[in-house]
Amino acid sequence: MHTSALVLFSGGQDSTTCLAHALSRYDRVETLAFDYGQRHKVELDARLNVLAAIKAHFPQWASKMGEDHLLDAGILGQISETSLTRDTAIEMESSGLPNTFVPGRNLLFLTLAAALAYRRGLQVIVTGVCETDFSGYPDCRDDTMKAMQVALSLGMDRKLLIETPLMWIDKAQTWQLAHDLGQKAQPQGGGSALVDLIVEHSHTCYLGDRTQRHDWGYGCGQCPACQLRSAGFDRFQKA
Ligand code: ZN
Repeated sequence: MHTSALVLFSGGQDSTTCLAHALSRYDRVETLAFDYGQRHKVELDARLNVLAAIKAHFPQWASKMGEDHLLDAGILGQISETSLTRDTAIEMESSGLPNTFVPGRNLLFLTLAAALAYRRGLQVIVTGVCETDFSGYPDCRDDTMKAMQVALSLGMDRKLLIETPLMWIDKAQTWQLAHDLGQKAQPQGGGSALVDLIVEHSHTCYLGDRTQRHDWGYGCGQCPACQLRSAGFDRFQKA
């Protein structure tokens, strides 16, 4: 019986939905993010705002929320494309990934998360990886997650579960899932409260833009992350 979880929580739409998922099923939930030194101030602020807003609006979840962890993963900066080529500007590649992307980054994150979960006595790692929207990330695929679960459980000699509630759903369904989880926690309007909270406080835009407010939240509106989020929100609202 699993009762405790560590959520990889970046402060974006997906990881906020994963946090709600964990809070709906586990008694003790801790959160983790990695600071790897790109335009991250916006995201790091966003995640604290999301945590505060969830605590304020969902008291039944607040009591389950444990420590929030921020680990330095700055070493990734040494192997990103922009760093290797020094004077290259940050830009989007044809793959839809920013050229700051580091191959296998998520493998490192999961390993660090598992080490932390071990030390904190947490049984489940919840991560918002998804094959539906981001098939371009091989370190986010279901097979990779299953292999990591086996490798980490063996390597730490402790049964560890990697849970991926968003793996097979698209962005519209992710909005719907957040709505359903909020509604279940709080039948009096909790669904729209959680969706509103994600719109207002979570951050997804690759460019770190929080100057433009859309009905789906803040962002440049142009980068692949904004386009996915906004198209998903449209479909969610029309459903
Ligand atoms: Zn954007």
